[in-house]
Amino acid sequence: MRQLVLATRNKGKIAEFERMLNAYSSDIQVLGLADFPDLPDVDETGSTFIENSLLKAREVSAFTQLPALADDSGLCIDALNGDPGIFSARWAGVHGDDAANIAKVLAQLSELESAGKLTNRNAKFRCAVALSFPSGDQRSASEVLEVNEVIEEGELLGSITLAPRGTAGFGYDPIFQPNGYELTLGEFEHGEKDRISHRAQALAKIAPKITSLI
Ligand code: IMP
Repeated sequence: MRQLVLATRNKGKIAEFERMLNAYSSDIQVLGLADFPDLPDVDETGSTFIENSLLKAREVSAFTQLPALADDSGLCIDALNGDPGIFSARWAGVHGDDAANIAKVLAQLSELESAGKLTNRNAKFRCAVALSFPSGDQRSASEVLEVNEVIEEGELLGSITLAPRGTAGFGYDPIFQPNGYELTLGEFEHGEKDRISHRAQALAKIAPKITSLI
């Protein structure tokens, strides 16, 4: 059984990654950070999604001496010059306070609108995934890789609604309406988001590479 560590404590993400990888290969065991309780928290000090995903993947592979996969994602709103971006999880100050983050984004857009400065409500979810091998790992010398890392990205285009709708998903899902849909991600049926999400797209690109490399 080949092993891969996923740099997250989120059980939902581990299950999603495992499902995706199993579609390509059934002999990969996906471990999570819960399997390595001594692993120190990784500071997300990068200035892009790619940098942050690489930071996490590198630290986890160095610590565990196993190939590690990390992701970093967020919401980028055109009218806010790409914010909240890499600060999505803590946009209103407290990490993971989804209701406060949503309220802040809606207030910012309505302020712009009152000032006559809002030209559109376009936004995108972006996700970067990075795979890193421990240094000295033979697989990283593979001719496929120039360095011992692989990076892929995915994005989902849409717009920010006037008010939250639906309770499914997490984060900004209730105020994000993907292009071509009448529903917000918060109103999507269970599992449907997986077919189109930024994370699913990035994963679909990296999964075949993972299964051939590890
Ligand atoms: P992380 O990459 O899991 O740290 O996510 C960063 C933050 O971006 C989350 O806390 C959410 O606020 C936001 N975010 C990322 N992906 C999604 C999504 O699929 N739906 C809603 N919010 C998301």
